[in-house]
Amino acid sequence: MLDLAIIGGGPAGLTAGLYATRGGLKNVVMYEFGMPGGQITQSSEIENYPGIKEVVTGMELMAPWPEQCMRFGLRHEMVEVKQISKDGDIFKLILANGKVQEAKNVIVCTGSTPKRAGFSGEDEFFGKGVSSCATCDGFFYKNKEVAVLGGGDTALEEALYLSNICSKVYLIHRREGFRAAPSTVEHVRNKENIELVLNCTIKDVYGDKMGVNGIWVVDKEGNERDLQVPGLFVFAGMNVNNGVLKQDDGSFLCDLNDRGEVIVDLSMKTSIEGLFAAGDIRIEAPKQVVCAAGDGAVAALQVIAREQH
Ligand code: FAD
Ligand code: NAP
Repeated sequence: MLDLAIIGGGPAGLTAGLYATRGGLKNVVMYEFGMPGGQITQSSEIENYPGIKEVVTGMELMAPWPEQCMRFGLRHEMVEVKQISKDGDIFKLILANGKVQEAKNVIVCTGSTPKRAGFSGEDEFFGKGVSSCATCDGFFYKNKEVAVLGGGDTALEEALYLSNICSKVYLIHRREGFRAAPSTVEHVRNKENIELVLNCTIKDVYGDKMGVNGIWVVDKEGNERDLQVPGLFVFAGMNVNNGVLKQDDGSFLCDLNDRGEVIVDLSMKTSIEGLFAAGDIRIEAPKQVVCAAGDGAVAALQVIAREQH
């Protein structure tokens, strides 16, 4: 029986593990099916993590975290958690390897994943010219023209990153205003090799066996434009990874809001005793590394307090 199971090894899960083990909990496992670090490892530039003055990549930012967190006894199991349920006072975790693990407390830190925008050809060409990771795939388009879809922080920041590698970036957004931070918008507007393609959506991405050859964009009046680019980066927002909370009857283990985010109080407590949620998965998450880490610490301290009573 675990004192604490942490689901997810992004900034929230790693920090929860650090605080839980350093705070004296003995039997703590963090389940993360990939390498620990979370979605930020896909980012090319981070300049808002306190204490890190230089602009660093997500990989660079997260590289020291696992070692620091595991120094105090946190264990990492590289397996997906399929479902969390509760039987009396005990949580049951069903793992992808078929095992069932019991735990007294659970912190869910499963974060979020990129949404598909839903245009024709997106799924067909995903991984073959359509991507959601500029750090991973941008280099393939060195000195070539690419397109970026979206108007949030991710789209604009990654458009800037791509503009330093590629000869030109078409930034396609479905309306005039952006969600991204004003300073980022200004930076994009001042970048001479980024062309804003506003009030437009993607109608179709076309190509052949070798990959993408171009995209058709359409404006609100129905006028179409052919952008002959070999690469398209889609940044249409994120889906909350709440699947582990889904029960056999289709209900969820704890209360969620209408966007599927876990409802928590200021202590990261959910509607279920002993179940906590931290990071991007919770309601009103600012979706920042520093906030996810803070949530993880808060949740772990609550588990320690619960175990002491
Ligand atoms: P995540 O980082 O999403 O980590 C969740 C982890 O859980 C993942 O590693 C996943 O593999 C694992 N997982 C999910 N389901 C399961 C399961 N069932 N079993 C086991 N493991 C599971 N924030 C900033 O502060 N500054 C920035 O500059 C910045 N730039 C960003 C750029 C990009 C491109 C993106 C996508 C995000 C950016 N963010 C930035 C936001 C930041 O990455 C997130 O707010 C933060 O990573 C959230 O941390 P988290 O721990 O809640 O979740
Ligand atoms: P986001 O803020 O939800 O933006 C998604 C963008 O995609 C929006 O502009 C949206 O258009 C557009 N979009 C959505 N569905 C679409 C579709 N089907 N077709 C065309 N366009 C579509 O997502 P995000 O940029 O990934 O950011 C997620 C969170 O992480 C945010 O809270 C963000 O602030 C945070 N983040 C922060 C930083 C940072 O602090 N430096 C960096 C990255 C991310 P509309 O605007 O019209 O809805």
